[in-house]
Amino acid sequence: MHVTSSAPPQSAEGNLLHYARQLPSDKATKEDLFADGPTVIIPASDSHNGDSPSSMTIAESIALARDHLDHPFVLNAAEEFGEDDDDASDDSQLSNVVPDYVFGFDIDGVLLRGGNVIPEAREALRILNGENEDGIKVPYIFLTNGGGKTENERCLDLSRQLDVAVSPDQFICGHTPMSEMAVQYSTVLVVGGEGEKCRVVAENYGFRDVVTPGDLIKWKPSVCPFRKLTDDEYKNSRERDFSDVNIEAIFVFADSRDWAADAQIILELLMSENGRMGTVSSTFQEGPPIFFAHNDVVWSTAYDLTRYGMGALRIMIEALYKESTGKTIDVTSYGKPSKATFDYATRVLRQWRKDLFDDASPPRTVYFVGDTPESDIRGSNEYDEHSESDWYSILVETGVYEPGTEPRYKPRKTVKNVLEAVKFGMERERQKRLRTPPDGCASCVSTYILRRNPG
Ligand SMILES: [Mg+2]
Repeated sequence: MHVTSSAPPQSAEGNLLHYARQLPSDKATKEDLFADGPTVIIPASDSHNGDSPSSMTIAESIALARDHLDHPFVLNAAEEFGEDDDDASDDSQLSNVVPDYVFGFDIDGVLLRGGNVIPEAREALRILNGENEDGIKVPYIFLTNGGGKTENERCLDLSRQLDVAVSPDQFICGHTPMSEMAVQYSTVLVVGGEGEKCRVVAENYGFRDVVTPGDLIKWKPSVCPFRKLTDDEYKNSRERDFSDVNIEAIFVFADSRDWAADAQIILELLMSENGRMGTVSSTFQEGPPIFFAHNDVVWSTAYDLTRYGMGALRIMIEALYKESTGKTIDVTSYGKPSKATFDYATRVLRQWRKDLFDDASPPRTVYFVGDTPESDIRGSNEYDEHSESDWYSILVETGVYEPGTEPRYKPRKTVKNVLEAVKFGMERERQKRLRTPPDGCASCVSTYILRRNPG
């Protein structure tokens, strides 16, 4: 494991609460990423100078909050012994003014496009990390429908691309809330993504028996007559007799790499008796449930025009099911704009505020920056209707949305790119502060002590 100069935990329980591992983005290995505990990927340049980078604080503190959210019993035990308070007061090397607003970012079409960094993205994140005239650090999370990799791997990619410290716990992917279903279903089919990656994601979430379309094609190549597994796919797919296996649920984790084969298998299972291959239900009411990580019909790539995505596969499955059975299939989609994804984000942000400020209330305003009106803007606007926070939707022109057209779901603000979005949100907050009477200022912007690695 390549851990930087940050002090490793000395006593397992107490320090687990306050320290995140720092892995340099140029040295972190896959094995490092799968180790337990809060982790932050730091840019290679920061790891070489030996100092804790100033941008660490946001990534690290959210990493710790997410760890507490996942392991509440550890936090409670420490609070009982008063460890939490001691550390907050002793570890006061860094004082900061922390605003009660946060940013949420979609990734594709906002920070990256076709795998390349959108030029303004680096400066936007640098500003949030404290390079602004007030010297304040503004927390941010990433809410992406993209998937097919673990949150840890996406974090490593993003840290390398944007040259900024990022924690996997700042990531909420479309499939992240699916982890909560690992206890409910035993044998599941996981569809989409490259190679074995989605099987790894699902197993990492705790799913006990994960089947892929490759396993089924290896069992009987005639399941998909036009699909031939590559040598690698054949080697990685698991040998098994599926004639007596019931598949209890279908999860589409990431975009299908082969719609024809995946659709063939999904439809057979949906129409089967209890998810068993080779059977056909007489009622078409016995098949397993199907869950999609998101519902984006199109997405933006390096190509000039948008491309079809997971939502389009969902439409195709629904149409073919209706054509074959005369019935309508129930599907569940996660990701933006689904409430489940925004709820999860809110839980992470609340825990973060509780850890740092001992205040479990949600942030006052969440500026949510996205490029897709149908998922980002719709999701943010709908969530705003019943959220305690003000979810303020900002549409950028660097992705799916075509500038000059009328978006189907209206953002509260449209800007050219992510840098303009950040500047707009911060200026709006600044104006709010200026309008707030002196007594109110204390509640609008408070001074807090941010915990920090002693380095
Ligand atoms: Mg997008």
